[in-house]
Amino acid sequence: MGVRLSTLDETRHFSPLDAEACALPAKVTLVGAGPGDPELLTVKAVRVLAEARLVLYDKLVSQDVRRLINPAANLIYVGKQSGYHTLTQEGIIELMVRLVRSGRSVVRLKGGDPYIFGRGGEEAQALAAAGIDFEVVPGISAAQGMAAAAGIPLTHRDHATSVVFVTGHLRDEADGRGLELDWPHLARPHQTVVIYMGVATLGIVCAQLVRHGMRAEMPAAVVENATLPTQRTVVATLATLPALARLEAVRAPALVVIGEVVALQRELDPALRAATRPALAGFGLDRP
Ligand code: SAH
Repeated sequence: MGVRLSTLDETRHFSPLDAEACALPAKVTLVGAGPGDPELLTVKAVRVLAEARLVLYDKLVSQDVRRLINPAANLIYVGKQSGYHTLTQEGIIELMVRLVRSGRSVVRLKGGDPYIFGRGGEEAQALAAAGIDFEVVPGISAAQGMAAAAGIPLTHRDHATSVVFVTGHLRDEADGRGLELDWPHLARPHQTVVIYMGVATLGIVCAQLVRHGMRAEMPAAVVENATLPTQRTVVATLATLPALARLEAVRAPALVVIGEVVALQRELDPALRAATRPALAGFGLDRP
């Protein structure tokens, strides 16, 4: 069912357009696939996937989510992975435009929420500029999935009155100079900072936050594969997290979360709570 980009030829690979498909104007639906757990999709996303005929999907769309796609649909992988010919962002946009102009509706399936660090904004702009109809189906962003699955509330009346999502991805260079974040703003008290794509630059971020006034003992964590069965949480402080994450060989996809709320993880992490539950729990014997 998958189509390799190396052999992509719309006339050969995609099912012929049927009368029903041609009755409606072709459009793009940008769909948020959530952080990985397929049960975190919206009802609308599940419907769109079940009705899809042609899906362009990214690397972070989990296999379990892909199982919800109409089995008769053509799937095109446009993420980055060795062994596949992948497209640039411009290439993805061009492909979508070409497909829609050939009369095919496209479901563009992106990890998390399409409008949070997924370049969905750029894709929507390009579609709007090309005069192509599009719709956006929001998804649970990785930060929200992580909060629930790791037991780290993003805001809390006693600890954080605001939450900031930033990217730790270097736009240009690999030496850290490309990371231009508003450090004084990020170091503010009573705030939770969530960093997407922040594993590689974790050391720079922690050092900068301390330099800008955040205490070195501030609780900080990295959550890898949030909401998936392989989820791992590494909890430390601003001072110790970079070394601990290296030691634990934390890999993307992972989120860095910094702030007082991280200390609540010990109390609220569903995995920890399951581990400490009395042995008889679940048999009804622990109820009053
Ligand atoms: N649009 C997506 C983010 C895309 S950027 C969203 O709203 O979630 C990709 C980054 O998201 C990854 O590098 C990682 O930092 C984060 N991410 C996505 N899925 C994740 C997961 N299951 N666990 C931890 N981080 C995740």
